[in-house]
Amino acid sequence: MGDKKILCIGLVCLDIINVVDKYPEEDTDTRCLSQRWQRGGNASNSCTVLSLLGAPCAFMGSLAPGHVADFVLDDFQKYQIDISLLSEHPHSSFPTSMIISNVTTGTRTILHMNRNLPDVSAADFSEVDLSQYKWIHWEVFVSKDVAMHFGFHSAASALKGLYHRVKKGAVLICAWAEKGADAMGPDGIVVHSDAFPPEAVVDTLGAGDTFNASVIYTLSNGGGVQEALTFGCQVAGRKCGVHGYDEIVTKKE
Ligand code: ADP
Repeated sequence: MGDKKILCIGLVCLDIINVVDKYPEEDTDTRCLSQRWQRGGNASNSCTVLSLLGAPCAFMGSLAPGHVADFVLDDFQKYQIDISLLSEHPHSSFPTSMIISNVTTGTRTILHMNRNLPDVSAADFSEVDLSQYKWIHWEVFVSKDVAMHFGFHSAASALKGLYHRVKKGAVLICAWAEKGADAMGPDGIVVHSDAFPPEAVVDTLGAGDTFNASVIYTLSNGGGVQEALTFGCQVAGRKCGVHGYDEIVTKKE
């Protein structure tokens, strides 16, 4: 596999993160503890984590040019993420999330707006030289939010209830916040890892993207499903204890 990359396909957006120590009441005027811009979007965040883990990776998605795009492009470059598959849409506006990040509880409340930036199409994807990539991430993983939308109350029940929808032979994976994560393959056996809570949960924004990246990292290096789930929960747990992503790999297990 040599230097082949991991490709993540999906959204890049701007996250404007407002850090507070108490969730605001409606119709009040609150001072934040801090405020920052961060490159966001699921696939883009997973690339950040892959890059921090030391895996060569590439992002494929749509971009609306302008000042925000310049900030985002600089940040992709800072993390050495290959963006040769970015497609520009000059008449679209940049998708943005306003986030309230509560340091006391670690919760993140997201308000997202994507006015008119189109997704990557099947036609775009058909032009990709697949031989450059050892792993391509689109959707396989099911998030807790999606599972709950379908009426499931645990990762295991979501996997059992949704497995019939995936391709024959697939492994379906579902993370469930502080309950850890489960996976199920064609044998129907549910594999589990507990979560690895940090000393204090301060920022859970992107925990799922961190988990996905760390699972993909392990599987793409030949690791097994149990090993991947455990590593995914370890790295995601560390992420919850720090702001952003940069410190997720400083401490060794
Ligand atoms: P999402 O970002 O999609 O909401 P989840 O909240 O399901 O993702 O979290 C993904 C992974 O992050 C979990 O499997 C777990 O390992 C870790 N995680 C999330 N929240 C916590 C928490 N409060 N304590 C410890 N680990 C957590």
